[in-house]
Amino acid sequence: MSKVASEFQDIDIEKERKEILNAFKGLLRATKDRSREDTRMIRKAFDVAVEAHKDMRRKSGEPYIYHPIAVARICVEEMGLGATAITCALLHDTVEDTHITLEDVEDLFGSKVRLIIDGLTKIPEVFDENASIQAENFRKMILTISDDIRVVLIKLADRLHNMRTLGSMRADKQLKIASETKFLYAPLAHRLGLYSIKSELEDLALMYSEPEVYSKIENSLKSTKDVRNRFIRRFVQPIKEALQFEGYVFDIKARTKSVSSIWRKMNAKGIPFEEVYDIFAVRIIVDTPTELEKPDCWRIYSIITDFYQPSPDRLRDWISTPRANGYESLHTTVMSPTGKWVEVQIRSKRMDEIAEKGLAAHYKYKESKSEESKFDRWITEIRDLLENPDANALDFVNEFKANLFADEIYVFTPKGELRVLPNGATILDFAYDIHTDIGDKCIGAKVNNRLVPLSYQLLNGDQLEIITSSKQKPHDEWLRFVISARAKQKIKSSLNEERKTIAQDGKEILERKFKQHNIRLTAENITFLEKYFSMPSVTELYFRIAKGKIDLIKLRDIDAVHGILNGEKKTNNSTKDKHEKDVYPKINKSEDSIIIGEDFKNIQYQMAKCCNPIPGDLVFGFITISEGIKIHRNNCPNAEHLLSKMNYRCIKARWQSKDLVERVAAIQIMGIDNIGLVNRLTEIISKEHNVNMKSISFETEDGIFDGRIKVLVYDTDHLEQLMRKFEQVDGVQRVTRWDTEEDQHPQESH
Ligand code: MN
Repeated sequence: MSKVASEFQDIDIEKERKEILNAFKGLLRATKDRSREDTRMIRKAFDVAVEAHKDMRRKSGEPYIYHPIAVARICVEEMGLGATAITCALLHDTVEDTHITLEDVEDLFGSKVRLIIDGLTKIPEVFDENASIQAENFRKMILTISDDIRVVLIKLADRLHNMRTLGSMRADKQLKIASETKFLYAPLAHRLGLYSIKSELEDLALMYSEPEVYSKIENSLKSTKDVRNRFIRRFVQPIKEALQFEGYVFDIKARTKSVSSIWRKMNAKGIPFEEVYDIFAVRIIVDTPTELEKPDCWRIYSIITDFYQPSPDRLRDWISTPRANGYESLHTTVMSPTGKWVEVQIRSKRMDEIAEKGLAAHYKYKESKSEESKFDRWITEIRDLLENPDANALDFVNEFKANLFADEIYVFTPKGELRVLPNGATILDFAYDIHTDIGDKCIGAKVNNRLVPLSYQLLNGDQLEIITSSKQKPHDEWLRFVISARAKQKIKSSLNEERKTIAQDGKEILERKFKQHNIRLTAENITFLEKYFSMPSVTELYFRIAKGKIDLIKLRDIDAVHGILNGEKKTNNSTKDKHEKDVYPKINKSEDSIIIGEDFKNIQYQMAKCCNPIPGDLVFGFITISEGIKIHRNNCPNAEHLLSKMNYRCIKARWQSKDLVERVAAIQIMGIDNIGLVNRLTEIISKEHNVNMKSISFETEDGIFDGRIKVLVYDTDHLEQLMRKFEQVDGVQRVTRWDTEEDQHPQESH
């Protein structure tokens, strides 16, 4: 951004020096409540900066020092920051661009100023074009907030001034800086509660990225100004009179939407300017002592709604519960006499200042105890993290983010678009956030170019690309992966639809079978079957029939034994008991047997990770010291050891027949690598009706292909089917159950 002074001829150095001094005096005048100490420090910073930048000029030709002075002034006037921030703003470009070192800064201004300058120097001026690098830098930037919140505030002031003076830059640079401002800095300003800076940044970004759009909207706004003002005057008049009558000291502002927010609305709703331009907010700012803020705001609300009908679902009380970033205000939307909705924001002078200048303004208001403690807690959280010496940089960012943005995380689409999700969200939440169809068809995602399963939890700054398959469908298990209400609700409704459709198929199958066997289709007969197969509901019975989980060939035998289906009354408890004995001949009622799928009180069991048993496998239970009972396959690599050396801790186990839940099974596929093999395999999974992929990894070495897939299946039959299909793929040599290595060696944990 600098050029050597000698390139600019005919400059009146003396005149320039005077102008620079004037600019600095202007800065000092803007800085209220400064001590002599503060003034001395600010003056020293100015002297150092003037000297350091003395040979530098901005692209516009003006002396470079104007830029740090302007940045410092933004910090004072638009953010409400104090002497330390002013000092740092004046020095912000010295270490990066001049001979001044961080050590010099520390010697002259102390360690606090050094820390902030260091943070500022670490944030690159222009980010790389590569979108994922941008995300990476975004993370770095968040990291620097943790050193001192002023780092980010000064950086934003710096960016704002650069945007205001962007006109003298090269066109291609303008575009780049503008787009970066839009997706990195404006959201950041928003997050910190700097709403007016945010909208100015957005407007400036739009002005450079879409100059025609910008000037068109700007002109339209100018030409409709009179109509708008007339409307506002009429709308505000009765409120004004009533408030004056009640003796309030107040200010009413009616602000038109910014150019960029009009443009956003036009785009989002696909509507012309004419339908957007006259949507504006009226703000009533009341000057009142802290203890009267809340009652006064509500009193004013009551006065407004005496004149205009409010929309009941658009009342927002951020006075009782302020937003995380400190924003407080009472919002309502009322109907004007001309039939137009108008948003009215009611707040105190103090609240308005915080809303405009963000968190920094909190410093000024320490009267209110609760406020102070809230802000202090926030600062303390940052301090706590700083004092954690073991944390490496990345953990640190994540931890910090979790505390500061407690409920939100920021991720990017492949195009670099920023999306906000609740903390703990998975790729499924993200997919449903984009579109229901994308959620329903999601089979996985690439996060920062790495393939991850559906359950992957997103981290701040992740960039992700959702992978879909037209054959994918939501699964029960998905409900455990998602945390956003939207995703949950979408999955549930898809599942219900799906279940109903499948149950309908099952019902039709049963009707056909009844016909074949000459069995009457009556409610009694269906209820009999429901009980016979121990089903919790008729829908469940139909569902399982459709899934092939209930063998209807048995119908004939059942009928022959009981004669019930054809109406012969032979109900007899003993035959029923007898039957149950036949179906479960091996029930071992003794204590050392476990039936998997049954809810045992006080007995915890889980599937061993080494062999991932699924229903149909021959299994046994092993009693661990601290993790309850683990179920292993009889042919688990660990089984021999456990059964021979620790057989006193082994118990019999078997599957409960009605247990129809999805379980993890791991498959290894070996073969000759050829083009399209991976594709073919994933295609099989995605086309397979009931198979959900949990994780997948492929490796190729010297042409040998080694694929490891974890899938969710119901039982061994289900798994076998899938494995047979893999075997038929060209190039595949061997398909086996894969015993994961993690638990390979029997430890106490087995
Ligand atoms: Mn700068």
